[in-house]
Amino acid sequence: MEVTAQVFLKPKKEESLLRFHPWIFSGAIKGIIGNPNEGDVVEVYTSNNEFIALGHYQVGSITVRVISFEPTIIDQDFWNDKVQRAYDARQALGLTSSTTTNCYRLIHGEGDNLPGLIVDIYGETAVVQSHSVGMYLSRQNITEAIKHVYGNQIKAIYDKSEGTLPFKAGLNAKDEYLFGSSIDTPVLENRIKFNVSWEEGQKTGFFLDQRDNRELVGKYSKGRDVLNMFCYTGGFSLYALAGGANSVDSVDSSQKAMNMVDRNVEVNFGTEHKHTSYAEDAFEYLRTIDGKYDLIILDPPAFAKHTKVLNKALLGYRRLNALAFHKIKPGGILFTFSCSQVVTKEHFRNSVFTAAAISGRKVRILHQLTQPADHPINIYHPEGEYLKGLVVYVE
Ligand code: SAH
Repeated sequence: MEVTAQVFLKPKKEESLLRFHPWIFSGAIKGIIGNPNEGDVVEVYTSNNEFIALGHYQVGSITVRVISFEPTIIDQDFWNDKVQRAYDARQALGLTSSTTTNCYRLIHGEGDNLPGLIVDIYGETAVVQSHSVGMYLSRQNITEAIKHVYGNQIKAIYDKSEGTLPFKAGLNAKDEYLFGSSIDTPVLENRIKFNVSWEEGQKTGFFLDQRDNRELVGKYSKGRDVLNMFCYTGGFSLYALAGGANSVDSVDSSQKAMNMVDRNVEVNFGTEHKHTSYAEDAFEYLRTIDGKYDLIILDPPAFAKHTKVLNKALLGYRRLNALAFHKIKPGGILFTFSCSQVVTKEHFRNSVFTAAAISGRKVRILHQLTQPADHPINIYHPEGEYLKGLVVYVE
């Protein structure tokens, strides 16, 4: 891609870039030479006219997302190299050759030095999701790079960016196959089968970020009565069943999600199982469960998408967790999560602490959880640590 403009920073505004933070905010920019379109590659210079980065230009508070801190040509080789590096990291984790797990995140935005890009692998299909205009306009290069790195191991590439691109950019993106066509086979996660619908489902079809935490639920489930609240396609429920739970109830307000749960339970455990599905609202359901469960999982959607609603979100987490603390059996274990990026670990822990105090129960923290290694955090971009979880023992 051609460089179409030069962006010049105000004095001292290069400091975070010297520490490899990949975002340039509009307020840091002194001026632009050229007239870039959204998604173009621009060069960034310090106030002393020294080159500092190359990035994707976009109108908005983050004006440039850095894709290279070195002067380089953004051609097919550039993308091949980026995807190869992401692949190498997953290979080091054993994910690319595993016989028990064939779905994982290949590219995690800033965590893989590719701000605005998500790529998830589901068996022989890669699902590409752009959150920035620049990544969307690079989708052909990204497709070629995935094919270059995987060879014939990847037979389909699906673009699911319709819902994640800025509306104002007017791209009229349509979700579509960039290569190959629909392959309908369940994927494997730690030997458990999941039907994943990237065409219909939320995110890229599945919440890959809970893999390790689901495994931990499996370990604690033996003989317990489990409630999986906000279950989506039933990830935690299937691990609880596999782990020998006495009973597993799954709840989600989406009937479509519950139909997927039923399919996933049947694919793994047939028609004789200890599972029940409920398409209901979380808060209403939780009010009715006095002493019914001794393992509860709360994995709600992000309550805060931006800092303006942070306080309201923290109250939401407090209310939700307080209900669980009130209702869980003595000796119960609560897995509680927040995936809101703007809610820090400390915020979340404080909400859970307040919820515990309101309930008056004795509560001990057993584990502090986060996202798995295929959702890496760029050390220079701590904002990338978004998933927080606590496992607590309730007397
Ligand atoms: N735990 C899941 C992911 C949860 S995503 C997994 O491991 O795959 C959050 C889910 O919460 C979504 O499926 C959404 O439909 C559901 N949800 C949102 N609001 C809800 C509410 N008020 N009551 C119940 N479910 C809700």
